[in-house]
Amino acid sequence: MRKPLVVGNWKMHGNTAENVALLEGLLSAELGTSDVAVCPPSIYVAQVAEKLKGSAIGWGVQNISAVEKGAYTGEISAPMAKDLGSKYAIIGHSERRTLFGEVDKDVADKFVAAQQAGLTPIACVGENLAEREAGETLTVVGRQLGAILAALSAGQVDGFVIAYEPVWAIGTGKTATPEQAQEVHKFIRDQLAALSAELAENIQILYGGSVKADNAEALFANPDIDGGLVGGASLLVDQFVAICRAA
Ligand code: PGA
Repeated sequence: MRKPLVVGNWKMHGNTAENVALLEGLLSAELGTSDVAVCPPSIYVAQVAEKLKGSAIGWGVQNISAVEKGAYTGEISAPMAKDLGSKYAIIGHSERRTLFGEVDKDVADKFVAAQQAGLTPIACVGENLAEREAGETLTVVGRQLGAILAALSAGQVDGFVIAYEPVWAIGTGKTATPEQAQEVHKFIRDQLAALSAELAENIQILYGGSVKADNAEALFANPDIDGGLVGGASLLVDQFVAICRAA
């Protein structure tokens, strides 16, 4: 059985004082039995690592460079994230794709860089509103996922997480219905099964896009939804705790 996973994507939020309050809230809460992690802005990863080390809560980064080191002003590499104890790296988030011009090839390169450094990539896929309305959801998700799977080397066909995040549901308060989400999650798992039935059975596929305390349970009840990638609600202790417990 797959263990549920809930990951908080803090995006560009927080400061040292707010981070302490949020983390202490999580550390003193009963989070349930799922895997839980938070992804702060990279400048705070060291602070978060210091607070969370020895706890059941993991941490990760929201983006990495595809290259390991060199003259890349402002970039953070996968080995650096690993050096600070990160378990996860979010890869190809729709905000990276739409606001920072990341294309499928960049996402695949970052995915490989994360795996090579020993991080677990959380690779994000998802259609925008125009694509959904044009009936292209599965085509778009299939293309984005295909680019990632094509980059997998034979020895590395596990150790990653997929997040389905319909762009129209991110930060909008509009959540995919459990049926809409399940349909795409099943499609993703079938595409993974074409590579390996065992892989498909074991990979955690997270839903992201306005997950809140009051809709988490209905989403996570579906057979192919293994938890959530949570933005806004991950900044609020009560909300995030409730979502973790629902998983
Ligand atoms: P949201 O963000 O929960 O605020 O919609 C999810 C995400 O972008 O990962």
